[in-house]
Formats: sequence, structure tokens, C-alpha cells
Amino acid sequence: MDTDIDDHTARRASAPGPAAVRALATEAVHAGRDDLAALGLHAPPIDLSTTYPSYDSRGEAARIDAFAADGTEPPGTPVYGRLGNPTVARFETAIARLEGTESAVAFASGMAALSAVLLVRSSAGLRHVVAVRPLYGCSDHLLSAGLLGSEVTWTDPAGIADALRPDTGLVMVESPANPTLAEVDLRAVAHDCGSVPLLADNTFATPVLQRPAESGARLVLHSATKYLGGHGDVLGGVVACDEEFARRLRQVRFATGGVLHPLAGYLLLRGLATLPVRVRAASATAAELARRLAEDPRVARVHYPRLGGAMVAFEVRGDPHEVIAGVRLITPAVSLGSVDTLIQHPASISHRIVDADDRRSCGVGDRLLRLSVGLEDVDDLWGDLDGALGAGRGA
Ligand SMILES: *Cc1c(COP(=O)(O)O)cnc(C)c1O
Repeated sequence: MDTDIDDHTARRASAPGPAAVRALATEAVHAGRDDLAALGLHAPPIDLSTTYPSYDSRGEAARIDAFAADGTEPPGTPVYGRLGNPTVARFETAIARLEGTESAVAFASGMAALSAVLLVRSSAGLRHVVAVRPLYGCSDHLLSAGLLGSEVTWTDPAGIADALRPDTGLVMVESPANPTLAEVDLRAVAHDCGSVPLLADNTFATPVLQRPAESGARLVLHSATKYLGGHGDVLGGVVACDEEFARRLRQVRFATGGVLHPLAGYLLLRGLATLPVRVRAASATAAELARRLAEDPRVARVHYPRLGGAMVAFEVRGDPHEVIAGVRLITPAVSLGSVDTLIQHPASISHRIVDADDRRSCGVGDRLLRLSVGLEDVDDLWGDLDGALGAGRGA
């Protein structure tokens, strides 16, 4: 009896707190929520305040000074909604735990997150970016057009070391890449970056399949709009990184205003709870669809990552526009990572903004289709694809 009680006490004493190493599936449902039971709550509270009352304006001044000096988050209430929000902070805590980084900083969208990273680097005088194609179409456009004053050198992974210059502030890769699912050896690339921060866009893999920080990426970017939210009803972005870089990102976020709305923060945290289950289930279906597509004579080529995942890209022999027009169960729409299956034609939509020659030379051909596999039954999905491929057979 005594022994039983002692064992029980010991287990409770060593019960994993936020600092303990917990499995990903556990973090997905508990990270960012560890204080809730003590607060007498089960669901996370949503704080919609834009401002926070304080009778101590000397104290507020000191908090603002501290933030301006080094980006340290003001302790206690946030002063103003653009400085921080407690609901969004829960999502940030959870992402940092899932990606295995010290911190994370959330933004209004994936593009707002990438913009903040570029501004952090260019404000330090490091305007040059080395990047590997393909990237998501708008990321490619933001770099190519130099909208934020950056200058980009495009290279393949093997050319990164030679492309670095004294003013290089960032190396950027996606793996698996949007939309070709090309994979990059993150560990090798991180090595070639030397002291230049490597940004890995982990939107497609999610921390369920890959944690780029473990391979040496200093910055892990997500379009949270995709798998993290997972239900096609919230836009968001996040950068998981060390606290030093996070401070700079918070300062830029405060000054430029690309904040995540608290309701979006709530929905993203809610989405994380089912992330591992969704990604694993959709990946199993995607692998099976990739196998069936590869055997189909109407399909010229299938791209499916060695890493796995829920995205499949394939090149049709017929007219890709007819395939898009022919789906009935699958939703013909851009974006990805939702519970329902989406298909789109990258050359017409997600990568339309990229120069046509650049697009084709990095593998985004005119007959390439990108499928984001959801949680439907595999045979129902195959039936729909089979019918739609029949529609596109002619050309
Ligand atoms: C969608 C996407 C982005 C941009 O994210 P938004 O949330 O749409 O701004 C960036 N990277 C990848 C890989 C994406 O798929």
C-alpha cells in the first residue's frame, strides 16, 4: 500500500510540465494550454482587447522602452493589441514547442511573416537573399520584384555556398517545395549557409513530418493558413526561431502592423490539436493516390516526396484545364492543407505571378496539377480523379 502511494506521488511530482520533453501528439493538444486547468478553464480564452488599462503610466513607459530597445515582450498585459495578444501568444508557444524552437512569432498571413523576416534583415543592412526555386509563387514574386528592397540570387542547392556575399542576410528554401514537391537536404544546405540564417518554409511538411530547426534552419516559416489551421477558414503565418531573432520580428511586427487577429490565433491553436492525426491520415491517402496515378496511362509523371505528406503533384498527358473543370467531389481551388481535397493548376493560379520562363525552368510545367489531399475516403477521391482525367484525355 505504502509503496503504491509513493509511486503515485513520484509520478505526479515528475508529471511533465511545459519544460519536459513530450511527444509531438501530446504537445499538439497541450502546448500553449498548460495553465488552463489552474485558471479553471478547459477551452482557451479569447482576448479581443485592442488596449489594456493601466493606472501606472511610468510603468508603461518603462515597458515600451524595453520593447523598443530589444523587442522583449512586455511582461503582464500587452499595453496595446499591436504589441502582443494573450490568445495569439498561446498559438506562438504551441508552435515553438512543435517545431522545437525557443520562440515563435505569429503574423496575419504567411506573406506577412516572410515580409517581416526580410525587413529584419534589410534593416540590418543585409539586403541580399539567396533562394532556391521553386518557392510558393508569391514568395518568388516578393523576392524577384524587390518590393521590400531585397535583391535575390536564384541558385540550386549546390550553388548556395558560392552565391553568398558579405551582404547576404538570408538563404531561403522550401522543402518539399510548392508546387513540384522537390526536396532539399536541409542539413547540407544549413551547413553551406555558414553564419547566414537559413529560412526553411515548412508549410508542406508541417512539424509532424519534419522539424527543420533540428537540421540547422534558424528560421522555420509556415503559412498557417494551410495545415496548421487545417479547415480552410483562417489566414495566418508564423516564424519559429530563437528568441534573439523573435525579438527583432516582434519589433517589425509592431512597427508594420501585420498582426494575427486573436480569433485567428484561437482557431489556429484549435487546429493544432488535430494536426498530427490529420497529416498522418491525409498522407496515407495521398501515398495511395500517388501510386494509382503513377500507374495510370493518362498521367505522364507523378511527384510525391520521399518524406511523405498529403500533397501530390502530377503531369497529365491531356488538357489540365479539363481536369480542373471535371472534378465534382474534389474542390477546384487554390490553397491547401484543408480537411477537404483541393486541386489547382499552378501555372494558372498559385504560380501565375512568376515569370513564365522562370516557372517552367524550375519544373512548374503547363500540364502540372497540384492536389492537396484531405480526409475523404480514398476510393471516393480516386473515383472523382478518374472521371476528371477522362474529361482531360482529349488533347
Ligand atoms: C500559401 C503559402 C505561403 C503564403 O502564405 P499565406 O498565408 O497565403 O500568405 C507561403 N509559403 C507556402 C509554401 C505556401 O503554400
